[in-house]
Amino acid sequence: MSVIGIDFGNENCYIAVARAGGIETIANEYSQRVTPSYVAYGENNRDLGVSAKNKQVTNIKNTVFGFKRLIGRKLRDPAVQREMTYLPYDLCELSNGDIGVKVTYLQEQTIFTVPQVTAMLFTKLKEIAETALKIKVNDCVISVPVYFTDRERRAMLDAAQIAGLNVLRLMNEPTAVALNYGFYQTDLDDEKAKKVVFVDMGHSAIQVSACAFTKGKLKLLAASCDVNVGGRDFDNILVRQFAEEFHTKYKINVMSSRKAIVRLLTESEKLKKQMSANPHELPLNIECLMEDKDVTGKMKRSTFEELAGDLLSRIEATMRDVLHEAKLKPSDLDDVGIVGGSTRIPAIKQLIQKVFGREPSTTLNQDEAVARGCVLQCA
Ligand code: ATP
Ligand code: MG
Repeated sequence: MSVIGIDFGNENCYIAVARAGGIETIANEYSQRVTPSYVAYGENNRDLGVSAKNKQVTNIKNTVFGFKRLIGRKLRDPAVQREMTYLPYDLCELSNGDIGVKVTYLQEQTIFTVPQVTAMLFTKLKEIAETALKIKVNDCVISVPVYFTDRERRAMLDAAQIAGLNVLRLMNEPTAVALNYGFYQTDLDDEKAKKVVFVDMGHSAIQVSACAFTKGKLKLLAASCDVNVGGRDFDNILVRQFAEEFHTKYKINVMSSRKAIVRLLTESEKLKKQMSANPHELPLNIECLMEDKDVTGKMKRSTFEELAGDLLSRIEATMRDVLHEAKLKPSDLDDVGIVGGSTRIPAIKQLIQKVFGREPSTTLNQDEAVARGCVLQCA
């Protein structure tokens, strides 16, 4: 019986397993190691993961995503109210104050709880693992952000239970990353600790942690986070900028159409990723965005960095916090590891250099480190 490690991200999930003396990340039916955290309800069926995300534009109101930010919270929670401004699907309040996700499924109005939606995604992850491993999978370790409250953690356990998964442990994401890092350190000392900072910035938040490694031991010295700075906030900067431009240039109000917002967001995210690799001016083109109008815009990395100035300052502050809390100076550090898709943004790598006085190392698999760390706990 194998134990799987699940990194449940706000945007992406990864599954890892210990096999043949090593750790492997499992690929889904599309041969991709990443499975989007999307659940879509259709007229005749349900789509989970890749297919749900791929069809989003054609089924906007019934495609549920971003629910890691909702799990274990009440609808009236200010964080949820803020979240609702991002989400193109509808939420409602259940009699106990919990969040209901309102969709049309099998041609009927249906309300699901957030743990139910999450369970559907987990069912898919379980199935992906079972197909790849050709055995039944029940036991798992699931990662959660370090800032998750007891309620959020309990709701995660409910979701796993509904999906038929037995959770051996919920592991904090920074702990998983550190375990994964420590696993590959062969030169650790018994006495003198190796001090490492990890920066994990994914889709919706940033977590920075400082750890001390000695032979066979790992100590978390400090962790800091900003739950409101993630990759999606960078996407939204582009969305707002282009929406304004298109309003002037084409007299269209992108913000009035859920479909137009989703399409602009998708293209903005693509442009953001291209800007990580290329500093020159790059185009953004969308056919028939609204009112039969084709739109074009352009942006270069330096302009994007200026627009994102506030976010970058907050990221810098979060990085500085961890040094302060751990009572470390940059010169005390032996290494800096990076995790999460958003640490590919060049400006963030520059901030790492500025705050920690060194370039991030490439020891970790940036995308898979959390899932791999989860598995190591039980390997
Ligand atoms: P969270 O950790 O917040 O729950 P997650 O784990 O699902 O989210 P990741 O998969 O680590 O998030 O990262 C996804 C984010 O990384 C997205 O916002 C994506 O746009 C961003 N990203 C991926 N590649 C790049 C790139 N090359 N340049 C900039 N951003 C990128
Ligand atoms: Mg993540």
